[in-house]
Amino acid sequence: MQTSARVQCPWCFEFIEVLIDPDTEGRFVRDCEVCCRPWDVRVVRDAAGGLQVTVQRSN
Ligand SMILES: [Zn+2]
Repeated sequence: MQTSARVQCPWCFEFIEVLIDPDTEGRFVRDCEVCCRPWDVRVVRDAAGGLQVTVQRSN
C-alpha cells in the first residue's frame, strides 16, 4: 500500500502527486516528472501516522 502526497516542484512550480512507500522515511532524491530536474525529498511521519512531504532543489 502506498500513500500519496501533493507537492510543488521547486523548479517548474507544477503540482505533482508523489507516491510514498509505507517504509519510506527520511530523505531521498527524485526527479520531477514534468521538468526532470532533481528534488531533494524529505518525508516525515508523526506519531499519529500523518505524513509530511517537503521538496527542495537538489544539485
Ligand atoms: Zn519540475
